[in-house]
Amino acid sequence: MLSVVRRLWSGGVAGKPVSLRRQIELCNQVGLFGAAATIPYQFFYFFYDFALYRGVFLANLLFIATYLLVLVLNHRGWYNTARNLLLVNACSQLFVVTFFISAGAGVHLFYFTLAAILVFLFQHLPVWLYSAIMTVFGSLYVAAHFLFPQGSVPAPVPSPWIDIMYGGSVAGVLTLSGVFLYLFRKSIDQAENELTINNRHLETLSTTDPLTGLANRRGLDETLEREWARLSRHPGVLSVIMCDVDHFKRFNDRYGHDGGDRCLQQIATALRSVISRPSDLVTRYGGEEFALILPGTDEEGARFLGVKLRVAVQGLAIPNADVGKGACVTISVGVSSIDHFRSDGAACLLKRADEALYRAKEKGRNQVVFLPYSSPRSSGKGGS
Ligand code: GH3
Ligand code: MG
Ligand code: MG
Repeated sequence: MLSVVRRLWSGGVAGKPVSLRRQIELCNQVGLFGAAATIPYQFFYFFYDFALYRGVFLANLLFIATYLLVLVLNHRGWYNTARNLLLVNACSQLFVVTFFISAGAGVHLFYFTLAAILVFLFQHLPVWLYSAIMTVFGSLYVAAHFLFPQGSVPAPVPSPWIDIMYGGSVAGVLTLSGVFLYLFRKSIDQAENELTINNRHLETLSTTDPLTGLANRRGLDETLEREWARLSRHPGVLSVIMCDVDHFKRFNDRYGHDGGDRCLQQIATALRSVISRPSDLVTRYGGEEFALILPGTDEEGARFLGVKLRVAVQGLAIPNADVGKGACVTISVGVSSIDHFRSDGAACLLKRADEALYRAKEKGRNQVVFLPYSSPRSSGKGGS
């Protein structure tokens, strides 16, 4: 039952921006509830004394039809017309019905429900318009309250029915306000959830390299800064490895850019397969260069991993025919480690690993060179 009603008020809203969706759904809800809330009164007028209440009964038929027209207009995409018609219809109904049966029935209390949800019926409601409509609501309420006392109206409702109607109106005002605000709360929760999921997705995208799925340069910088900060608080070791594909330009020239991209993806997978600790990070530093951050890994461990990385890529046996007969794709690896915190910054560690990589290239490529962080002028101790 509820799902049928929900379908009635949510028809055609899929894919619309959140604020428009909220406006459409809320208008439809008010239209539906406005029509439904009028029906018990109609029963009373019809069965109690139709001759006396004919005027209010017929007027209410028109108001119910207009409430339902709001849903039709929304369905056709005339959202603002639907909203304006809804407001005019509801305001008129409360005033006209109070005119017929007196303020004693409390029908005009529903102006408070309208006031409670007014701001949600608009996507962008300027303050002056908000204030103006609120003033209209307040004026209509006060006018209806004082202009139509019991005894001066064309179709008065006798006691105890008038008191029952008043109770019904109070219950209706509270229930409708409660239901609308509850539904609105749910839509806020949903919007917040969507926002959180989207933010997380964007966050992941902003730190991920689309070609290889590895973390990108931004991810590297963030992790390196974080690990450096950790090192400043707790004693420990930190290593960085830089890898660069050898003669990759020639590979591209021979196998095309697409072939180069596929090669980079295979290399990324191979590098990742060497890493087992969750705290280690493999990143695509840029182009055909990769960088690894290894928290808690000392010089010995980092050198060992550097060799494993080099061997893993060589093990892919991807031909690089332009380099020489039977040549395969290889990488050069630069490694650097630090075993105590220094204030010169994490970027120096990265730079040191880059220098080591440069030396590996100089020494003939497809090898691993280590340079310690602490003595920048010392020469490299290579190994493969
Ligand atoms: P070296 O051994 O000295 O590193 O030689 P190299 O040819 O690898 O070095 P160089 O820096 O001259 O060339 C790197 C090449 O990597 C140039 C560029 O065409 C290629 N490259 C960089 N990024 C990408 C990419 O995303 N996809 C592809 N297919 N190629 C890339
Ligand atoms: Mg390069
Ligand atoms: Mg290269």
